[in-house]
Amino acid sequence: MNQPQDAATRRAVKPVICYPPETLPEPDLSLYAAARETAEKIDEVLVAPREAASIKVPAGHFLKMSSVEGSQVGDLNLFNLHDLSERFYSGKTRALHGTHVTTGDRLWSSFPTLRPMATVTTDTLDWYGIDEFGGSVHDVIGTRCDPYTGKVLSGTDYHHCCHSNLTRALADARKLPLEESERHVHDVLNVFMCTGFTRDTGQYFMKASPVRPGDYLELFAEIDLLAVLSACPGGDCSSEHTSDVAACHPLLMEVFRPGDGTLGNWSQPAVNGYDRSHGR
Ligand SMILES: [Zn+2]
Repeated sequence: MNQPQDAATRRAVKPVICYPPETLPEPDLSLYAAARETAEKIDEVLVAPREAASIKVPAGHFLKMSSVEGSQVGDLNLFNLHDLSERFYSGKTRALHGTHVTTGDRLWSSFPTLRPMATVTTDTLDWYGIDEFGGSVHDVIGTRCDPYTGKVLSGTDYHHCCHSNLTRALADARKLPLEESERHVHDVLNVFMCTGFTRDTGQYFMKASPVRPGDYLELFAEIDLLAVLSACPGGDCSSEHTSDVAACHPLLMEVFRPGDGTLGNWSQPAVNGYDRSHGR
């Protein structure tokens, strides 16, 4: 391989953080924690293994996603309840918060609204950090397992991929034809999934999730949300997905409403304030 003479010098340039988090609006986690203390459960749905289910989460409420029965990964889509075109933007969330999210990070919506849809308020796996392989939990780097990639890689037709599960669950929730529902399904937050990039080849990897029954990830809904969660056919994602081979378990979604007045002067974030009058 031909290298320029100054290759080492060019590589030695120090990186800078693209979006320093200091300039992001800070969530008031202590306010959320106080509101959660008195919150009451108002709804729940059990997501069957290798299927998806949806639940409405009003602004100012909490969505708790729990592992029950066994180690299981979930693929989450989030929509503005009133406008499916405003949806979770995993790429921008990654650019702002890093490859994996945990307590205090926000889940951002697509353009042109680009605002926090939800804030992570509790993550019982926050102790995991980044392991010796570069792996961590709750990634925003994977897309979602889907039948099309399975077809390309192994020639299979498998219908319980997260993409397909999310498509069916959204179609059920909104009474949409499957073809239309599919167009709204987007790259996910990989709840409980343990992933990273190999250090030597930069390839996307997964490994058995450290999640155990009782673990949960809890979000505060900053706007009215429709949450759709798929219990991935990969189970704990220790070996494979896009098949019926892995042991799979359900996931529980629960919604909690804070007591009156406990959210102080919290108000839902406005749509992005960028002034488009001088061009895009
Ligand atoms: Zn999946």
